[in-house]
Amino acid sequence: MGSKSKALPKGISAAEFDKAVREMRAIVGDEHVLVDEEKLAPYRKIMMPVPDEQHELSASVMPDGVEQIQRIMKVANKYRVPVYPISTGKNLGYGSAAPVQRGQIVMDLRRMNRIIEVDPELCTALVEPGVTYQQLYDYLQEHKLPLWFSCPAPSAIAGPVGNMVDRGVGYTPYGEHFMFSCGMEVVLADGQVLRTGMGAMENSNTWQVFKWGYGPTLDGIFTQSNFGVVTKMGMWLMPAPPDFRPFCIQYPNETDITKIVEALRPLRIAMVIPNAVVIAHTLWEAPCTPVKRADYYTGPGAIPDDAVKKIQADHNIGAWNVYAGLYGTKETNDANWKIIEAVAAGTGGKIITQEASKGSKALEYRFDLMKGKPNLGEFGLYNWRGGGGSIWFAPVSQAKGSETLKQMQMAKTILGKYGFDYVGEFIVGWRDMHHVIDLLYDRSNPEQMEKAYACYDELLHTFAKEGYGMYRANTAFAEKVAATYGPVKRDVEKRLKKALDPNNIIAPGRCGISL
Ligand SMILES: Cc1cc2nc3c(=O)[nH]c(=O)nc-3n(C[C@H](O)[C@H](O)[C@H](O)COP(=O)(O)OP(=O)(O)OC[C@H]3O[C@@H](n4cnc5c(N)ncnc54)[C@H](O)[C@@H]3O)c2cc1C
Repeated sequence: MGSKSKALPKGISAAEFDKAVREMRAIVGDEHVLVDEEKLAPYRKIMMPVPDEQHELSASVMPDGVEQIQRIMKVANKYRVPVYPISTGKNLGYGSAAPVQRGQIVMDLRRMNRIIEVDPELCTALVEPGVTYQQLYDYLQEHKLPLWFSCPAPSAIAGPVGNMVDRGVGYTPYGEHFMFSCGMEVVLADGQVLRTGMGAMENSNTWQVFKWGYGPTLDGIFTQSNFGVVTKMGMWLMPAPPDFRPFCIQYPNETDITKIVEALRPLRIAMVIPNAVVIAHTLWEAPCTPVKRADYYTGPGAIPDDAVKKIQADHNIGAWNVYAGLYGTKETNDANWKIIEAVAAGTGGKIITQEASKGSKALEYRFDLMKGKPNLGEFGLYNWRGGGGSIWFAPVSQAKGSETLKQMQMAKTILGKYGFDYVGEFIVGWRDMHHVIDLLYDRSNPEQMEKAYACYDELLHTFAKEGYGMYRANTAFAEKVAATYGPVKRDVEKRLKKALDPNNIIAPGRCGISL
């Protein structure tokens, strides 16, 4: 055949690689192994500030089932070629579909896209990795099932397995996706198939309803790791509530964030507000409204505060825009609505209801996400600056007002030093907050690429010094982020890797784990 691959796996000769590819072709069929540069192009579109070559794949293999994956594992072990599993491959801003290290073979699970079961009484689903949120949504609509799920912002194209495996989040009361997953099937590097929780027991019918099983709970080790290929996942669905009342509360000043968090945290912990509360800054809302940066500022450096104020005034956007919802009956929501009104009045916020939101793109996509209706409204972010560069900087903090201004000021100062805007939001999960910042830059501009890398690096290390760790990170910074969590945790991960994958063939380097 003669290897056409642009990037062979480290230490593997072209001849050995060709043999591995030939054997994989015999397993999945010729058309389901790609090596031609052109055909691999969609996997290559990274948004991170590092050269494409760093994450260049050698091939893509697309199995159609567990048995094919088991056989691929054998080949990978035999030739020591690393495989990088992806489900729907839309990990945009975290590494997209490209492998964590150059030369890995992407194992694309898109053909495994069966919705295996939906139980309308227990409100559970069992899905394969290639299932998209849109597909699941359409299924529930077609079968007239009044069930909702929680999804991330790029829901129309992403899927529940990939999102959960990377410990992603969404916007309904089931928004902590790993917490609301129940039961996994995993193909291990040696080809064994593990079912977690109750799934380990033959004839059990409780796999999707009881997560823990007996003995150590293993599910967590298959998230943000590289210890296996997840081939099925159970997830809990939410009964559509009789009454759903999403709302936005807008605040005029950046400093209002302190009192917002103090006022809303107790409601979140007590579950008066049952979903994650998103507190979005003006510059997150503006691009999704849509507003173009160039209409307000074309000078050097970060956009100045007076231009941000002008955007707020011109487009009715708050300095902070709080999104949450009430999910219940009319009676319970009427009662809780009074609490929300009192909080807004007491903190100087202006409530925007669903009725009043009509016509605002930013509000409409958020309100849809809060009921698990897939859309792509948040992709407006990429029109802000243009050029296709984006990495998420996402430190965790306590859900306390005092944390917000401190983190925002730290981030704004560092971003400003490199000429980037603060495009951020705080998400009050339960007792924690994810502070999510989209570092937007022009990937076609080498100077901005360099600055974006240096900026992320400084953000990471400055925040780590203050004790703030990332909830999730892009593949280019996996090693550096893992290092901020200290040597003992890493040593344990390495020992697990050695025990489960001694030839280091599943996604070496993912989340900093490798032999
Ligand atoms: C505008 C925008 C908004 C976003 N908003 C959100 C948001 O609200 N919440 C959120 O969580 N994310 C968000 N994201 C990030 C990301 O796009 C989503 O998390 C998305 O769901 C991840 O892609 P995916 O589901 O296709 O997973 P994949 O890309 O398929 O997988 C993610 C990673 O998990 C690993 N993996 C995947 N499948 C398997 C498997 N079967 N076995 C073992 N390992 C596997 C791989 O390393 C992979 O890279 C956003 C991105 C953009 C561009």
